[in-house]
Amino acid sequence: MATQKTSIWSKSKRHSKAAKVAAFGLVLGQLFTAAWAQPCHALFFGYNQQAEAYKQQGDAARDAQNFSMAINYYTSAINLLPYDAAQNLADLYYARAIVNDVSGQYQRATSDWQAAHDNYAKCVQQGQNQPGVNVSYDKEYEDELGRMITWRATENPNSSNYMEDGPMQRFSTPGNIKVFIDTTEASGFSYDLRYLIFQAMYTWCSFSGSPVRMTQWNSADGADIIVQRANAAGQIGFGAGGQTNAQPSGQGNFIGKSYTRLTTSGYSGSNMSQADKDRLFNLALHETGHALGIGGHSPSGLDIMYFKSPLLKLSDRDTTTLRMMYQ
Ligand SMILES: [Zn+2]
Repeated sequence: MATQKTSIWSKSKRHSKAAKVAAFGLVLGQLFTAAWAQPCHALFFGYNQQAEAYKQQGDAARDAQNFSMAINYYTSAINLLPYDAAQNLADLYYARAIVNDVSGQYQRATSDWQAAHDNYAKCVQQGQNQPGVNVSYDKEYEDELGRMITWRATENPNSSNYMEDGPMQRFSTPGNIKVFIDTTEASGFSYDLRYLIFQAMYTWCSFSGSPVRMTQWNSADGADIIVQRANAAGQIGFGAGGQTNAQPSGQGNFIGKSYTRLTTSGYSGSNMSQADKDRLFNLALHETGHALGIGGHSPSGLDIMYFKSPLLKLSDRDTTTLRMMYQ
Protein backbone atom coordinates (compact mmCIF):
# COMPACT_ATOMS: atom_id res chain seq x y z
CA MET A 1 0.00 0.00 0.00
CA ALA A 2 2.85 2.39 0.57
CA THR A 3 4.74 3.09 -2.58
CA GLN A 4 8.39 2.39 -2.39
CA LYS A 5 10.15 5.46 -3.50
CA THR A 6 13.82 5.73 -2.77
CA SER A 7 13.99 6.71 0.82
CA ILE A 8 16.48 8.89 2.57
CA TRP A 9 14.33 9.38 5.57
CA SER A 10 12.30 6.64 6.97
CA LYS A 11 9.62 6.75 9.53
CA SER A 12 7.85 3.91 11.10
CA LYS A 13 4.29 3.68 12.17
CA ARG A 14 2.90 0.78 13.93
CA HIS A 15 -0.57 1.34 12.68
CA SER A 16 -1.88 3.02 9.64
CA LYS A 17 -5.41 3.19 10.94
CA ALA A 18 -5.40 5.31 14.02
CA ALA A 19 -9.11 5.26 14.11
CA LYS A 20 -11.87 3.33 15.65
CA VAL A 21 -12.96 2.33 12.20
CA ALA A 22 -10.31 -0.39 12.38
CA ALA A 23 -12.16 -3.66 12.07
CA PHE A 24 -11.75 -5.53 15.27
CA GLY A 25 -10.81 -8.89 13.89
CA LEU A 26 -7.86 -7.58 12.04
CA VAL A 27 -5.80 -5.05 13.83
CA LEU A 28 -3.05 -4.40 11.45
CA GLY A 29 0.29 -3.03 12.27
CA GLN A 30 1.67 -1.15 9.40
CA LEU A 31 4.93 0.61 9.11
CA PHE A 32 5.69 2.72 6.17
CA THR A 33 8.95 3.76 4.79
CA ALA A 34 8.49 7.39 4.02
CA ALA A 35 10.18 9.01 1.15
CA TRP A 36 12.01 12.27 1.03
CA ALA A 37 12.68 12.19 -2.66
CA GLN A 38 10.69 14.92 -4.29
CA PRO A 39 10.72 16.74 -7.59
CA CYS A 40 11.53 20.02 -5.90
CA HIS A 41 14.19 18.38 -3.77
CA ALA A 42 17.19 19.43 -5.80
CA LEU A 43 16.20 23.08 -5.72
CA PHE A 44 16.63 23.23 -1.97
CA PHE A 45 19.48 20.85 -1.54
CA GLY A 46 21.57 23.36 0.38
CA TYR A 47 18.84 23.79 2.93
CA ASN A 48 18.00 20.13 3.02
CA GLN A 49 21.39 18.90 4.10
CA GLN A 50 21.13 20.77 7.38
CA ALA A 51 17.42 20.03 7.70
CA GLU A 52 18.06 16.38 7.12
CA ALA A 53 20.79 16.38 9.76
CA TYR A 54 18.31 17.89 12.23
CA LYS A 55 15.73 15.30 11.23
CA GLN A 56 18.15 12.49 11.94
CA GLN A 57 19.10 14.00 15.28
CA GLY A 58 15.40 14.30 16.07
CA ASP A 59 14.84 10.65 15.23
CA ALA A 60 17.76 9.62 17.44
CA ALA A 61 16.42 11.69 20.34
CA ARG A 62 12.99 10.16 19.86
CA ASP A 63 14.46 6.66 19.89
CA ALA A 64 16.24 7.53 23.13
CA GLN A 65 12.84 8.65 24.50
CA ASN A 66 14.02 12.24 24.79
CA PHE A 67 10.91 13.72 23.27
CA SER A 68 11.46 17.39 24.10
CA MET A 69 14.84 17.27 22.38
CA ALA A 70 13.27 15.51 19.40
CA ILE A 71 10.65 18.26 19.15
CA ASN A 72 13.40 20.90 19.13
CA TYR A 73 15.32 19.19 16.34
CA TYR A 74 12.23 18.69 14.20
CA THR A 75 11.30 22.33 14.75
CA SER A 76 14.77 23.45 13.67
CA ALA A 77 14.44 21.39 10.50
CA ILE A 78 10.98 22.78 9.75
CA ASN A 79 12.23 26.34 10.23
CA LEU A 80 15.05 25.81 7.73
CA LEU A 81 12.83 24.65 4.91
CA PRO A 82 11.04 26.86 2.41
CA TYR A 83 7.29 26.60 2.71
CA ASP A 84 6.93 24.77 -0.59
CA ALA A 85 9.30 21.89 0.31
CA ALA A 86 6.12 19.99 0.83
CA GLN A 87 7.43 16.43 1.04
CA ASN A 88 10.08 17.24 3.59
CA LEU A 89 7.69 19.36 5.61
CA ALA A 90 4.99 16.68 5.54
CA ASP A 91 7.39 14.08 6.91
CA LEU A 92 8.72 16.50 9.53
CA TYR A 93 5.29 17.56 10.78
CA TYR A 94 4.34 13.90 10.92
CA ALA A 95 7.38 13.07 13.03
CA ARG A 96 6.81 16.05 15.32
CA ALA A 97 3.13 15.21 15.73
CA ILE A 98 4.04 11.83 17.19
CA VAL A 99 6.51 13.21 19.71
CA ASN A 100 4.06 15.94 20.67
CA ASP A 101 1.41 13.29 21.26
CA VAL A 102 3.68 11.08 23.32
CA SER A 103 4.65 14.15 25.36
CA GLY A 104 0.99 14.71 26.16
CA GLN A 105 0.79 17.84 23.99
CA TYR A 106 -2.38 16.89 22.25
CA GLN A 107 -3.32 20.27 20.77
CA ARG A 108 0.14 20.86 19.33
CA ALA A 109 0.09 17.35 17.92
CA THR A 110 -3.27 17.98 16.31
CA SER A 111 -1.88 21.12 14.62
CA ASP A 112 1.07 19.08 13.37
CA TRP A 113 -1.17 16.32 12.04
CA GLN A 114 -3.11 19.01 10.15
CA ALA A 115 0.10 20.52 8.75
CA ALA A 116 1.36 17.08 7.72
CA HIS A 117 -1.97 16.37 6.04
CA ASP A 118 -1.93 19.69 4.17
CA ASN A 119 1.62 19.15 2.95
CA TYR A 120 0.87 15.61 1.75
CA ALA A 121 -2.12 17.07 -0.11
CA LYS A 122 0.20 19.65 -1.66
CA CYS A 123 2.56 16.86 -2.74
CA VAL A 124 -0.31 15.12 -4.46
CA GLN A 125 -1.18 18.30 -6.31
CA GLN A 126 2.42 19.02 -7.28
CA GLY A 127 3.02 15.46 -8.38
CA GLN A 128 -0.08 15.24 -10.52
CA ASN A 129 1.37 17.87 -12.82
CA GLN A 130 4.64 16.02 -13.25
CA PRO A 131 4.82 13.04 -15.55
CA GLY A 132 6.31 9.94 -13.99
CA VAL A 133 5.79 11.05 -10.39
CA ASN A 134 3.97 8.50 -8.28
CA VAL A 135 1.72 10.25 -5.79
CA SER A 136 0.11 7.17 -4.25
CA TYR A 137 2.27 7.33 -1.13
CA ASP A 138 1.31 10.94 -0.51
CA LYS A 139 -2.32 10.23 -1.31
CA GLU A 140 -2.35 7.38 1.20
CA TYR A 141 -1.09 9.69 3.92
CA GLU A 142 -3.37 12.57 2.94
CA ASP A 143 -6.42 10.31 3.23
CA GLU A 144 -5.28 8.56 6.38
CA LEU A 145 -4.43 11.76 8.21
CA GLY A 146 -7.71 13.30 7.11
CA ARG A 147 -9.55 10.43 8.79
CA MET A 148 -7.39 10.69 11.87
CA ILE A 149 -7.92 14.44 12.28
CA THR A 150 -11.67 13.91 12.06
CA TRP A 151 -11.46 11.13 14.62
CA ARG A 152 -9.35 13.16 17.04
CA ALA A 153 -11.83 16.01 16.94
CA THR A 154 -14.33 13.82 18.76
CA GLU A 155 -12.05 11.98 21.21
CA ASN A 156 -11.11 13.02 24.70
CA PRO A 157 -7.53 12.02 25.49
CA ASN A 158 -7.98 13.00 29.14
CA SER A 159 -10.96 10.84 30.07
CA SER A 160 -10.41 8.11 32.64
CA ASN A 161 -10.51 5.33 30.04
CA TYR A 162 -10.83 4.78 26.31
CA MET A 163 -13.61 2.23 26.19
CA GLU A 164 -15.33 4.32 23.52
CA ASP A 165 -12.35 4.38 21.19
CA GLY A 166 -12.82 1.05 19.59
CA PRO A 167 -14.69 -2.23 19.62
CA MET A 168 -13.89 -4.39 22.62
CA GLN A 169 -13.91 -8.14 23.01
CA ARG A 170 -12.68 -10.33 25.82
CA PHE A 171 -11.69 -13.81 26.82
CA SER A 172 -14.32 -15.81 28.66
CA THR A 173 -11.77 -17.11 31.18
CA PRO A 174 -9.45 -14.17 31.84
CA GLY A 175 -8.05 -15.80 34.96
CA ASN A 176 -6.48 -18.55 32.90
CA ILE A 177 -5.14 -17.28 29.59
CA LYS A 178 -2.66 -19.66 28.01
CA VAL A 179 0.11 -18.06 26.00
CA PHE A 180 2.18 -19.96 23.49
CA ILE A 181 5.30 -18.15 22.25
CA ASP A 182 6.70 -20.02 19.27
CA THR A 183 10.09 -21.61 19.97
CA THR A 184 11.08 -22.61 16.45
CA GLU A 185 13.93 -20.96 14.65
CA ALA A 186 11.75 -20.42 11.58
CA SER A 187 8.96 -18.42 13.19
CA GLY A 188 9.74 -18.15 16.88
CA PHE A 189 12.10 -16.66 19.40
CA SER A 190 15.08 -17.79 21.41
CA TYR A 191 14.69 -18.35 25.15
CA ASP A 192 15.83 -14.86 26.13
CA LEU A 193 13.44 -13.18 23.71
CA ARG A 194 10.56 -15.41 24.80
CA TYR A 195 11.29 -14.35 28.36
CA LEU A 196 11.32 -10.68 27.32
CA ILE A 197 8.05 -11.01 25.38
CA PHE A 198 6.28 -12.79 28.21
CA GLN A 199 7.48 -10.15 30.67
CA ALA A 200 5.89 -7.50 28.46
CA MET A 201 2.68 -9.51 28.14
CA TYR A 202 2.51 -10.16 31.86
CA THR A 203 2.55 -6.41 32.51
CA TRP A 204 -1.18 -6.58 31.73
CA CYS A 205 -1.58 -9.08 34.62
CA SER A 206 0.62 -7.59 37.28
CA PHE A 207 -0.99 -4.24 38.03
CA SER A 208 -3.22 -3.94 41.05
CA GLY A 209 -6.72 -5.15 40.29
CA SER A 210 -5.88 -6.72 36.94
CA PRO A 211 -8.61 -9.17 35.90
CA VAL A 212 -6.19 -11.15 33.73
CA ARG A 213 -3.80 -13.98 34.48
CA MET A 214 -1.53 -15.66 31.95
CA THR A 215 0.48 -18.82 31.96
CA GLN A 216 2.95 -20.01 29.37
CA TRP A 217 1.76 -22.94 27.31
CA ASN A 218 4.06 -25.27 25.42
CA SER A 219 2.16 -25.68 22.18
CA ALA A 220 -0.19 -23.81 19.91
CA ASP A 221 -2.82 -26.45 20.63
CA GLY A 222 -5.02 -25.25 23.43
CA ALA A 223 -3.34 -21.85 23.65
CA ASP A 224 -5.44 -18.69 23.81
CA ILE A 225 -2.79 -16.31 22.54
CA ILE A 226 -0.23 -17.46 19.99
CA VAL A 227 2.83 -15.28 19.47
CA GLN A 228 5.08 -15.75 16.49
CA ARG A 229 7.79 -13.86 14.68
CA ALA A 230 6.89 -12.23 11.41
CA ASN A 231 9.08 -14.19 9.02
CA ALA A 232 7.66 -13.68 5.57
CA ALA A 233 6.59 -10.83 3.36
CA GLY A 234 2.91 -10.02 3.46
CA GLN A 235 2.25 -11.23 7.01
CA ILE A 236 2.18 -7.66 8.19
CA GLY A 237 1.91 -4.44 6.27
CA PHE A 238 5.00 -3.10 4.59
CA GLY A 239 7.70 -2.52 7.17
CA ALA A 240 5.34 -3.52 9.96
CA GLY A 241 6.20 -3.79 13.63
CA GLY A 242 3.40 -5.99 14.85
CA GLN A 243 -0.02 -7.31 14.07
CA THR A 244 -2.69 -8.98 16.10
CA ASN A 245 -5.75 -10.80 14.91
CA ALA A 246 -8.19 -11.54 17.71
CA GLN A 247 -10.64 -14.03 16.30
CA PRO A 248 -14.13 -14.08 17.76
CA SER A 249 -15.26 -17.35 19.30
CA GLY A 250 -18.67 -16.99 17.73
CA GLN A 251 -20.27 -16.90 21.17
CA GLY A 252 -21.17 -13.59 22.70
CA ASN A 253 -18.44 -11.03 22.61
CA PHE A 254 -15.73 -13.53 23.42
CA ILE A 255 -12.41 -14.08 21.73
CA GLY A 256 -11.65 -17.56 20.45
CA LYS A 257 -7.95 -17.18 19.85
CA SER A 258 -5.60 -14.27 19.37
CA TYR A 259 -2.72 -14.43 16.93
CA THR A 260 0.11 -11.98 17.33
CA ARG A 261 3.06 -11.44 15.03
CA LEU A 262 6.06 -9.42 16.12
CA THR A 263 9.05 -8.35 14.09
CA THR A 264 12.56 -8.69 15.40
CA SER A 265 15.93 -8.70 13.71
CA GLY A 266 16.05 -12.47 14.09
CA TYR A 267 15.49 -15.55 16.22
CA SER A 268 18.05 -14.79 18.87
CA GLY A 269 18.48 -11.79 21.11
CA SER A 270 22.21 -12.30 21.53
CA ASN A 271 23.15 -9.64 19.01
CA MET A 272 20.29 -7.28 19.69
CA SER A 273 20.95 -3.83 21.10
CA GLN A 274 19.10 -2.60 24.16
CA ALA A 275 17.14 -0.25 21.90
CA ASP A 276 16.02 -3.23 19.78
CA LYS A 277 15.02 -5.13 22.91
CA ASP A 278 13.06 -2.13 24.17
CA ARG A 279 11.35 -1.93 20.83
CA LEU A 280 10.35 -5.60 21.01
CA PHE A 281 9.11 -5.14 24.59
CA ASN A 282 7.06 -2.13 23.49
CA LEU A 283 5.60 -4.02 20.53
CA ALA A 284 4.67 -7.00 22.68
CA LEU A 285 3.10 -4.72 25.29
CA HIS A 286 1.00 -2.91 22.68
CA GLU A 287 -0.03 -5.99 20.72
CA THR A 288 -1.06 -7.79 23.92
CA GLY A 289 -3.61 -5.03 24.46
CA HIS A 290 -5.13 -6.02 21.13
CA ALA A 291 -4.78 -9.73 21.91
CA LEU A 292 -6.76 -9.20 25.13
CA GLY A 293 -9.52 -7.52 23.19
CA ILE A 294 -8.82 -3.81 22.78
CA GLY A 295 -9.88 -3.34 19.20
CA GLY A 296 -9.01 0.24 18.51
CA HIS A 297 -6.43 2.78 19.54
CA SER A 298 -6.26 5.41 22.22
CA PRO A 299 -6.07 9.01 21.02
CA SER A 300 -3.66 9.81 23.85
CA GLY A 301 0.07 9.48 23.26
CA LEU A 302 0.48 8.71 26.96
CA ASP A 303 -1.26 5.33 26.55
CA ILE A 304 0.31 2.11 25.32
CA MET A 305 -2.62 1.74 22.92
CA TYR A 306 -1.73 4.97 21.11
CA PHE A 307 -1.08 3.86 17.54
CA LYS A 308 2.56 4.87 17.73
CA SER A 309 3.35 4.44 21.40
CA PRO A 310 7.04 4.09 22.25
CA LEU A 311 6.26 3.38 25.91
CA LEU A 312 7.47 0.50 28.05
CA LYS A 313 4.72 0.63 30.65
CA LEU A 314 0.97 0.95 30.98
CA SER A 315 -0.84 4.17 31.82
CA ASP A 316 -3.69 4.47 34.31
CA ARG A 317 -6.03 4.76 31.33
CA ASP A 318 -4.68 1.47 29.93
CA THR A 319 -5.23 -0.41 33.17
CA THR A 320 -8.63 1.18 33.83
CA THR A 321 -9.75 0.28 30.32
CA LEU A 322 -8.74 -3.37 30.75
CA ARG A 323 -10.52 -3.55 34.10
CA MET A 324 -13.68 -2.10 32.61
CA MET A 325 -13.60 -4.49 29.65
CA TYR A 326 -13.50 -7.48 31.97
CA GLN A 327 -15.98 -6.22 34.56
ZN1 LIG B 1 -2.30 -1.23 17.56
